[in-house]
Amino acid sequence: MPFARQGHFKASAVVLGSTDYAESDRILTFYTREYGKIRGIARGARRSKRRFVGNLDPLSRISLGFHYNGRSELVRVESAELKGAFAALRADIDRLTSACYLLELVSELTPDAHAAPGVYELLVGFLGLLEAPDGDDPALLRFFEIKLLGALGYLPHLSGCVICKREFIGAQGERVPLKRFCSTRGGVVCAQCSGGTDRLLPISPATARLLSAAYGADVDKLSGIETDAAFLDQSERILDDFIKHQTGKELKTRKFMNKMRSAGSA
Ligand SMILES: [Zn+2]
Repeated sequence: MPFARQGHFKASAVVLGSTDYAESDRILTFYTREYGKIRGIARGARRSKRRFVGNLDPLSRISLGFHYNGRSELVRVESAELKGAFAALRADIDRLTSACYLLELVSELTPDAHAAPGVYELLVGFLGLLEAPDGDDPALLRFFEIKLLGALGYLPHLSGCVICKREFIGAQGERVPLKRFCSTRGGVVCAQCSGGTDRLLPISPATARLLSAAYGADVDKLSGIETDAAFLDQSERILDDFIKHQTGKELKTRKFMNKMRSAGSA
């Protein structure tokens, strides 16, 4: 736990998840600006509607008050003041699914009780982008993935070959043929190095460059980045594979999205 002592604390938080516990309690996962991901218990949250209203539902951005007793893995939730409900996301099943995917990604990729700089702002910023008129652009999910991976120190190597370390464009302007992406190696692999490397996925230089550009761009500039079908297809495959490699599993929301998509195209 990041708290040096027991006592009462305040944090800016987004509710990542919630499960019922015992007769009337809820166990919650938060991503907080101050302490990273923490888990807490809200006693009586299901019995007394008045105390927390709907403020502890996943997606809610709240000002969280809690108590840490110096021992438990769970903090005790004392207050939850609603700062943002993201109502437009809750009203649209596709956007809600995208938002839940962001919550699950943060929940699965971040360690407990460690605030990685910028992750809270990234999550809140992207939930805002999903609410905007062009928030159904699938590129936003790819941009979130690459920025979150980068913020947590998992950024794949995209500017050149991860094995021989040659850059895309060398010092004399020569072009290294970059062909494939390899999750186990953590980046792009050139044609010469790709022999004997397993699970290679296609990636074009344009896709690699666009992902790097998105990683470096401010959140409010991302909507201006133009993408095409090849980028969407390649970036989804490689980031999906890379995230699976990092988490060791397929995310639940991801499975649901794939199911919805195949139902839609059937
Ligand atoms: Zn190489």
